This record gives sequence, C-alpha cells and structure tokens, in this order.
Amino acid sequence: MKDKRDFLIFSILILNLFYILLLINGSVSRKDDLLIFFILLAASYVSHSFGVIRFGKFSVSLSFFFLFPMLVLFGPIITSIMAYLIVLFQYANVDIPRRIYGGVQYAIAYSTAGFALNYLGISVWGIILAFFVFKIINFILVDLFLYYYYGRYKDLKTSLKYLSLESGVFSLALPMTYFIYFSSGYITYFIIYTLLFPILLTYLLSVESNARIELERERDALSKNVNQLKRVLEVSEMLKSNVPLVDLMMKVASIIQKDLGWEYALVSLVKPDGSIDRIAYAGISEKDFQRLRQNPPTLSFVKSLMRDEFKISHSYFIPEEANVSLPDEMVYVGKYDVKDIDSWKDMDLLWVPIYDKSGRMIAYISPDKPVSGKRPKIEDVTILEIFANQVLIALENSSEFETLQEKAIRDQQTGLYNHTEFYNRLDKFVKSNGKFALLMMDIDDFKLINDSYGHQMGDLIIEYLADKIKNSIRHGDIAARYGGDEFAVILNDIDKTTARTIAERLRISVAQGNPPVKITISIGIAAYPVDSLSSNGIVASADRALYLAKMRGKNQVSFSN
Ligand code: GH3
Ligand code: MG
Repeated sequence: MKDKRDFLIFSILILNLFYILLLINGSVSRKDDLLIFFILLAASYVSHSFGVIRFGKFSVSLSFFFLFPMLVLFGPIITSIMAYLIVLFQYANVDIPRRIYGGVQYAIAYSTAGFALNYLGISVWGIILAFFVFKIINFILVDLFLYYYYGRYKDLKTSLKYLSLESGVFSLALPMTYFIYFSSGYITYFIIYTLLFPILLTYLLSVESNARIELERERDALSKNVNQLKRVLEVSEMLKSNVPLVDLMMKVASIIQKDLGWEYALVSLVKPDGSIDRIAYAGISEKDFQRLRQNPPTLSFVKSLMRDEFKISHSYFIPEEANVSLPDEMVYVGKYDVKDIDSWKDMDLLWVPIYDKSGRMIAYISPDKPVSGKRPKIEDVTILEIFANQVLIALENSSEFETLQEKAIRDQQTGLYNHTEFYNRLDKFVKSNGKFALLMMDIDDFKLINDSYGHQMGDLIIEYLADKIKNSIRHGDIAARYGGDEFAVILNDIDKTTARTIAERLRISVAQGNPPVKITISIGIAAYPVDSLSSNGIVASADRALYLAKMRGKNQVSFSN
C-alpha cells in the first residue's frame, strides 16, 4: 500500500513537471472539440456516481476532476447545466429532492466560478481564484446550509477542516486543468487521462484512513467493554452481601440501566410452578411497572419465543420484523427515533435468561432501548450474560430466594413435593432414560375417617402417612402428594419386581402402624420403560393398577396388567 502511494505521488510530480516544461515551451492553443466534451462529461458522470470517497465522516465526490476542466474549456453555462444533470441522474440511491438540491447547488457553484473565470481571464491565478470561488460557494450551500438542514452540521471548526481537506484534494486537479486549456490534439486526451491519477491517490489515502478509523473504533469498543466488565465485577461484590431479594434485583435492574447502556430494565423471576413474577425495574415509572407486574406473560409464551432463530449467544433477541405480537399491557413500549436497520425498534425484545444448575430457567432480564440506539451486538449481549451469571450466583446465595423456590414446589401440609413438581421431576426421569418405578397410592376409605373422626383427624392421618413415605424412600427417590389422599413415589433405578417388594413393605408397615386411627393403603405400580415411555403413560398405567387394587378389595399392591 505504502509503495503504491509513493509511486503515485512520484508519478504526479513527474506529470506536473511535464506540464511546467510544456508551459515554458509554450506551443498551446484553445481546443474545444466535441469528443473532448463527451469524454469529460462521461468521466464526470462516472466519477460522481461511483467516485464518492470517504475519509471517516468526510466524503468527497470526485466529479470535480472532470467538471472543472469542462468549465475552463466550455464555459459556465454549458458546464453548470451538465453538472446539474449529472447530479440529477447520478447512479446512487439518493432521494429526488436531495438530488435536485444537489444539482442546483452544483449549477450555482460552477456557474459562479465560471463567470469569475471569464472575468479574471484564463491564467494560473485566474484558475486558482475561480477554484476558490467554487469552493466557497459550495461550502456555503452544502456544509453550512444543507448539513444544518439535515442535522449533520457539527461546528465551524470541523466544517473549515473539511473545507481545507477537500480543497487540498481538489487542488490536485488544477495544474492539469490549466494545461488542458493550452494543449491540443492527443496531448489533451492524455492530460484528461492523467486526471485519474489524483483520483486514485485520493482513493488510496481514503482506504488507509478508513482502516485507521476502523482500528480506532475497535479500540474504543474494546475499552468500553473493559469498563463495563469492571462495573460487573464491582457489582458482583455487592451482590454477595445478604440484602433482601427485591432490593437485590432492584439493584440489578438499576445497574443495567445506569452502567450497561440500557434505558429500561425489567427483572422477572420464573417460579417453579411456571408463573412469572416481575420483581424489579429501572428507568420506568412505578405506575408502568405495576401495570406490567399485573400482566405477566405466561411461561409457555416466553418459551415459544425462545427459538433458535432469535438466539444470540445464550440470549434471545426478537426483532420487531418477526411480528410476534405481545399484548400492549404486557410490554413497555418506549418511543424511539428509528434511523436505519441497525436501530433498535419499538417492538424489539431482548431476553437474557438465567438458568440454575439443573438447566431450569429461574429468571430473566429484559433490557430495553439501548442508549446507543443500536440493536445489540454479540458483545453487548455477552456483557449482559456475564452480568446475569453474577445475578445467578446472588440468587443461589439468597436464602430468601431458596425459601421462595421451595415454597412453590412443596405441598404445605406434608412438605412433600406438590403435583406440579411431581410432573417436573417425572419428566426429568423420563428424559434421563434410566429405569424407574412409579407407585401411586391412596388411603382406603378415607372418607369414613373424616366422617367418623372429623377432618382434623383426617389431616393428622395424611401427615402421618406422608412421614411414613418420607422415611421409606432412598436418596434420589421422589415422594409427592398427588392430591387429596393420593400420593406418588418415584423409585429411582428400580425394576417392577423390586418395586413390588418395596410397595408391599410400605403397605404392611402402614397397616401394622400405630396411628390414632388405623388405616390401610392401596398401591398401583408402573415402571419405565416397560409400561410406557411417556410421563402421562406411566401415570395412567399406575392409576389403572391402583384402580385394580381397589377393585380387588383394597389394602393391596397391584400392577396394571
Ligand atoms: P377409596 O378407598 O376408594 O379411596 O375411598 P375414599 O373414601 O378414600 O375415597 P377418595 O379417595 O375418593 O376420597 C378421598 C377423601 O379424602 C375426599 C376428601 O374429602 C378427603 N381429603 C382429601 N384431602 C384431605 C385432607 O387434606 N384432609 C382431610 N381431612 N381430608 C382430605
Ligand atoms: Mg381414598
């Protein structure tokens, strides 16, 4: 790259030297044939349509390199008309009003410069002065007026910097322009051809400058990330202290809002029974939060959006274009200025799920409206996930969270797992594919006990049986209250015959036990995988077995077939 540039600079110096020699020998005359006109016109059109070169925020359109020689050769009227047409018909997706304005602005700048040139006469100084007239008119019309109109105006200092930069680039064309006027025949074509060299040079310089800008941008992004990581580290220290759960999560939301570049944040807990509890917020009003809190999405809805196509890293970004419709009361919709496809849209959603060790989603963070206005990149999501991981540790360390979790999965009266959790556990057993047996048991004639001794006695009996079950299972087995006087036990890694022995032992121990009122139980057995391969199938099979045990006279153990 550097070698090529040196070569170009060297070539241009040689060329200019050549022109100076030409001037000293002085055998030149005015030449305005049609072919030269069309070559200049074509080159102007092509370089305007494809020749916009960028230096960071600054961009130049290189049609000047051919339009200015045209101005010197063919005068202000014809050139300004051509300039106007070129801008109007340029090959680029610029909207029509902007094209018309650009065309008019070019026409004004070139014609003013052309009349100045006519007045000053064609000489070295005449061309230089006409060039400055062109630049100043253009500066007023574009940099000052148009950029102000489009909200791109920075400040006078920056604008002047761009003016001088552009003048520097364009002035590369001036010596050649001068000589085109005084040359004739093939030399004219050759000089026009040489105008490509400064274009190439400008292009190479811009490539280099863009590479540098890109590097700087990456460096900035890196240092931003490092800073955010530092914040995450600071807060993870704080999360370790034992503060109440809601306060902790409010802190989490406020850090996302203050330090991680989001304007709103919600933290939701996913309870073991599958309900969603939005517990903390930042950046939105208490009133809005209460509305959201009363209208949580269902877990199945959340899960239906956790599709692979929306996945970034371990999180989910659901773009507005995906058109998943969330009821208004479920989402907070801010008002954003949308500028381009990278911009964050009103209905965009971002979910950063938090999973516990067993892979269950226990919470999720939903940040909204990035301060940058841009849709999240993988780095932004990664930072949130690192942070979410700290939140997980905080949740795991929170005794309050543990109690909350436990409460939701246990039957209050007996302390056994509840119906929902029973199915959660059963599903896990089925998924893990190892063999197990299911016992479904039910107290015989329990209604009689309630009727004869009262419900309080009934309760006592339920609790008595629950304890008996707890004491007869091993670590790794699951005991649950299926409902009413019905209990379910999952025996891990047990086949049907062994299950029968265990069930029989439990039945006898209940029948021979010493509760305030004597009871007996009936037990139905099913086993995975022999009776069914699905959770529901296994339960149905054990239920059938229990029904058989009751039909055959109660106080016994039965299989379904
Ligand atoms: P079966 O041998 O066919 O099971 O007869 P059953 O009388 O036990 O009939 P069933 O299982 O259908 O009735 C269960 C009864 O247990 C109905 C309900 O009123 C009572 N029950 C359920 N849960 C409780 C509880 O927690 N405490 C009390 N006291 N009674 C309960
Ligand atoms: Mg019963």
